[in-house]
Amino acid sequence: MLKIMVVKNRKQYIESLKKQNPKVYVAGELVKDVTRNPLLENSVETIAEGYDFQNDPELKQRFTVDSPLISEKISRATHISQSMEDLVAKAELTRRLTITYSCTRRLCMSNLLAALWMATYEADKEGNTSYHENLVEYVKYLQRNDCAISIGMMDPKGDRSLRPHEQEDPDLYLRVVEKNEEGIVVRGAKMHNTAAYSNELIVTPSRGMSEKDKDYAVSFAVPVDAEGLTHIVKPLASEEEMNREMENPLIRHFGGAMGITIFEDVHIPWDRVFLCGEWKHAMLIPLTWSATHRQVKCACRAGQIEMLIGAAALAAEYTGTEGFQHVQDKITNMIIAAESSYGCSLGSALKGIKHESGTFIPDSIIANSGLYNSRVALGDHLTTLHDLAGGLAVSAPCEKDYLNPETRPYLEKYLKGRKDIPTEHKLRAYMLLEDILGSKVGGYFAGSAISAGGTPQTNKIEVYRRYDLEKAKRNAKKLAGIGEKN
Ligand SMILES: Cc1cc2nc3c(=O)[nH]c(=O)nc-3n(C[C@H](O)[C@H](O)[C@H](O)COP(=O)(O)OP(=O)(O)OC[C@H]3O[C@@H](n4cnc5c(N)ncnc54)[C@H](O)[C@@H]3O)c2cc1C
Repeated sequence: MLKIMVVKNRKQYIESLKKQNPKVYVAGELVKDVTRNPLLENSVETIAEGYDFQNDPELKQRFTVDSPLISEKISRATHISQSMEDLVAKAELTRRLTITYSCTRRLCMSNLLAALWMATYEADKEGNTSYHENLVEYVKYLQRNDCAISIGMMDPKGDRSLRPHEQEDPDLYLRVVEKNEEGIVVRGAKMHNTAAYSNELIVTPSRGMSEKDKDYAVSFAVPVDAEGLTHIVKPLASEEEMNREMENPLIRHFGGAMGITIFEDVHIPWDRVFLCGEWKHAMLIPLTWSATHRQVKCACRAGQIEMLIGAAALAAEYTGTEGFQHVQDKITNMIIAAESSYGCSLGSALKGIKHESGTFIPDSIIANSGLYNSRVALGDHLTTLHDLAGGLAVSAPCEKDYLNPETRPYLEKYLKGRKDIPTEHKLRAYMLLEDILGSKVGGYFAGSAISAGGTPQTNKIEVYRRYDLEKAKRNAKKLAGIGEKN
């Protein structure tokens, strides 16, 4: 049967943003049209590129998939993974796109849908609820409209040593303040999200809840321009940095400005609610997401490290150091880190299991172990970049001086590396290094490597919690001869 395509292109995505009217503040100003704001342009472009990829003749076949829900060809960005092959496809695409694109943004949002798929199914099994049915219909809506999704998981959290209900200000975790026949009313905020230039925001608890926290055990979806929502977004760079031609090259690829979304008594209709008060089930969402998201994050880290490898190797080539043994050794360490992280992404897909709800959940221990290792090695990788690049990584001249005819001849002469490499190429390679190592975007890149998708400690907690230590101890007993006879 011929499948109809519901795969949008960049123009349709941008038009969809223009039809919305979200309340967005950026750097002190209320933004009328997010698609035309100079400080958000590169972030909108990041998502738009995601829509390009799913229409790209070379990538399309991998980026699109037959939906089992609506019997149409859809983007993987809204697909609920059904098999190991689905997870492998996501890993492959993520790694490939992250090398130049730095964050796929579109693809990884579906990781939360998969987690919700399983968690709502489990919640309904125990209670007289229809959250899973709500989610199924909602995912069909996302697929039919090929929506740009954002994730609202992280609460402001106030004092980290206190539970949600113990906070002095009860709004520091998002909560339900009213239930009525039509739906629920929610108040609070969600941090670090990309809702301002998406169509939909999916909200989930960020942690486990106790019975006293039951008002905080809430999950739902909301259009980003719903009444009562305010998004305060931090731009990734200044307008000047965004418009430079040579310096700050990353900003042209690295969108993803994040914001805090405030919910001032926002009404959510019941058919968009995926959890409301079932506190025992709150933790299953972040826990399952810990597997689905981190399997993909391992591939993302592999791509990010590959980007660093390229930058380091290029500078070494241009300055004539690439043949030195210690340079090769340090680059090899980065290659090993990238491949190990990617291996964990594939391995966790391979060892995944099909949940009875139909979604395929990757192995959490492998995903979290891989992500942990690739994250904590970031410091080593950045050290290697500084080490191999030398001082010019933080003191490359400004492009204005390079382009100024009075100073350019000096810079042409004294910044020359290998004789067959134009000085401009060397300078551009160093400007990339400077962007990675010393700019605001470079800082965002590091923050994304370490904290996006949960901090390293959350990887460790997950690994320890799931690991079969008793089995390992039984093995030790057997080896030590500790058994029934003694
Ligand atoms: C680039 C980027 C993109 C992101 N995208 C999204 C997104 O799309 N949607 C979204 O919802 N979130 C997103 N996040 C948020 C991300 O998930 C959080 O930043 C991360 O989970 C850490 O939470 P936090 O920032 O509140 O830091 P904290 O949780 O405050 O962590 C700081 C430190 O305190 C420790 N800590 C905190 N609480 C405890 C505790 N109770 N016990 C022991 N130690 C504790 C942590 O382990 C860590 O070492 C993004 C973050 C980044 C950097």
